Amino acid sequence: MKVLLAYEPGVLRVVDMPKPVVGPRQILAKVRYAGVCATDVSIMKGTLTLGEGMEPIYPVRLGHEWSGTVVEVGSETSRIKVGDNVISDTQYSCGECEYCLKGEYGSCLNGRAIGTISNCWPGSFADYMLVMERTTFKIPANVPLDQAALIEPAAIGLYGLTRAPLGPGNNLLVIGTGPIGLGGMACAKGMGMGRTILAGRKDAKLAIGKQLGADVLVNTTRENLHDVVMRETDGRGADVVLDTTGDPSIFNDVLLMMRGSGFLVIPGFYEQDLKNVKLDRIISRNCTLVGAAGTPQMGPKILDLLANGHINLGPMITDRFPFSRVEEAFEAVTSRNESRVKVLVEFDQ
Ligand SMILES: [Zn+2]
Ligand SMILES: [Zn+2]
Repeated sequence: MKVLLAYEPGVLRVVDMPKPVVGPRQILAKVRYAGVCATDVSIMKGTLTLGEGMEPIYPVRLGHEWSGTVVEVGSETSRIKVGDNVISDTQYSCGECEYCLKGEYGSCLNGRAIGTISNCWPGSFADYMLVMERTTFKIPANVPLDQAALIEPAAIGLYGLTRAPLGPGNNLLVIGTGPIGLGGMACAKGMGMGRTILAGRKDAKLAIGKQLGADVLVNTTRENLHDVVMRETDGRGADVVLDTTGDPSIFNDVLLMMRGSGFLVIPGFYEQDLKNVKLDRIISRNCTLVGAAGTPQMGPKILDLLANGHINLGPMITDRFPFSRVEEAFEAVTSRNESRVKVLVEFDQ
């Protein structure tokens, strides 16, 4: 089978590899769609800096946003069948350590990221994807497979938001119009979140956010975000803020855009030490800071939102390339663009 590797920093290479052998509790899927993530591009370039012990080990088989069709199942599987369309968690978890037994799969003592850092599980830019049945979820018949491949970034946003008050009676400020912000916001709106302000720098991406449920759009190149937030929240600040930007220069301002006892969810890595952070703004106002990485067990929730028509992630798909042109897909993510949100790679069937 054909496999894409970040062979070494700066070098992408498609190589031939044997089709994986399916273990007893594993399933093998023919990949149908794989999304290119900014993380994939950073690994390809060799610029990812998530901190100690989180370095990529080259060559990296990239890809963690995917959907596919099951072609083989292991001897001890029961839930997933050949022919099922599936997605998976973006991390391997063992299911047996003390954190997995508590349901805290993201903190699995034997956990491995898929297709990114450290000793990662081989990723989904490949003809076939091998995963544990435990971390695999069946896609309902009425959910398009291309949208299912977008569940991973949306799930990161939703995972953070589920640890804040999510639903009716709470308003939301989303900063950033990438897949995590837009996808997380779409899920929150699909679950009944109140008035939602979306802030970004590109009108075309804000317009996509409108399609996904944003109530108020703010182009921060033209408007002062703090002013708009105060105007829209009776001068109190947002109940929940999802800041996906990873931009340290706005952090102190963002702290003042949430209300007292509010929640700030940060799924975007800063990739640096933050200096002069006014943490007292969190303490004095009894606020909660929520870090969110990975997508443990979020797949079924978002599949349910899609299957029941509560959300439509389709508008986030702005570019498509066949796997034979995967290098161009990576270049597209790198190049500046006014409207690009998610680049999908499509595989031959
Ligand atoms: Zn990603
Ligand atoms: Zn575990």
